[in-house]
Amino acid sequence: MTKSFYNSANYMKDFQCLGDTCEDTCCQGWYVDIDKKTFVKYKRIPDKKLKRRLHMHIRRNKMKTSFSDYATIKFPKGGFCPFLNTEKLCSIQLELGPTYLSRTCATYPRQYNMVFDRHELTGACSCPEVARLVLLNRDGIRITEERELLPADPVIDNLLDDPDLEPSFEYIRHFVLDVLQHRTISIEDRLLVLGSFFADFSYEKLSRIKKRIKDYRDILDRDAVAELVAELPIEPDVQFAYFRQTIETHVQSYVSNQRYLELVDLCRQGWETHDRFTTAYHSYYRPFMIEHEYMMENYLVNHVLSQLFPIAGIEKGKEPFNEWMLMVLHYTTAKYHLIALSASQQGLTPDLVVRMMQSYARTYEHDISYFSNEIKHLQEDGLTTLPFMSILLKNE
Ligand code: SF4
Repeated sequence: MTKSFYNSANYMKDFQCLGDTCEDTCCQGWYVDIDKKTFVKYKRIPDKKLKRRLHMHIRRNKMKTSFSDYATIKFPKGGFCPFLNTEKLCSIQLELGPTYLSRTCATYPRQYNMVFDRHELTGACSCPEVARLVLLNRDGIRITEERELLPADPVIDNLLDDPDLEPSFEYIRHFVLDVLQHRTISIEDRLLVLGSFFADFSYEKLSRIKKRIKDYRDILDRDAVAELVAELPIEPDVQFAYFRQTIETHVQSYVSNQRYLELVDLCRQGWETHDRFTTAYHSYYRPFMIEHEYMMENYLVNHVLSQLFPIAGIEKGKEPFNEWMLMVLHYTTAKYHLIALSASQQGLTPDLVVRMMQSYARTYEHDISYFSNEIKHLQEDGLTTLPFMSILLKNE
């Protein structure tokens, strides 16, 4: 069998699962896909008692889309995986060994992508240990060229294999990362530069893409970003009303993760009134972020790397501007939580930001329908525009 290698995000070489000391086990509140190979292995185990338990909690998935989601371990609503023991350890792994874990369990929180002829590894910020490694990295996130041996049969999150897209992939990715890591301007302005770049972007000849990238690099080099974004609107009342309503609706209908709900209770004190929220932005959030903006930058860079933004979307027929809006909605929704939290806590610390961002990621990033529905609603209201995204981004 030929060996495969992967390139890795720089922080993943330090990742180690915290096991029973983890403050938010990944075995709660979700469901777990079981691939066909693992399902068949479970059918053949000799231990009758464990076999009965497996039979009781695992259901064939009639809507399966691939071998990976052939069956599902059902969790009780908001509850824990039925195979987690009282010490928060996995009884399948303990009794049968790691080779009996499904591909999903063996892979999480690692996210493998297939990028043309190579694999890349990043991590999911819904895992507290990954969130710490991503967000607390002052020097920034990048993919290293050190080649590691790929484990057998990992889940592949995103696959890029359209040869027509390959020539432009690295140009666009380098440009997007350079803008997001351009630390002399605010994160909001970095996102607006990308929004302007993708607003009327159509996927075309490489020479045209290179020319467009060069024009935008000139804007950064000439310190002309302020000019580019000056006309884009700021409407704090609209921003406040939008987030308070969308988050409250989501929390009341769908969310069961206890750790996130505890934080939302604290956030509610901050978004009780618009005045309280605005004061928190100026007194706590902004001063903290002047020193720690790299945390939010890293969150966005990790999104770009793990989602293969925006090329994986283009390969699936999605508009790059829509992919950009999705990234902005993630950033602004998380930021709104942080501002509100800073009001109730009268400040922020790196640990508090990690905790909020990890809970945010767990609640929103694994719910693929939430933001796609939100973009549909915005489309119906004619709000999928650069000016409306500016309203969601800008605070002053
Ligand atoms: S959330 Fe991360 S650290 Fe915690 S148990 Fe899962 S993989 Fe391990």
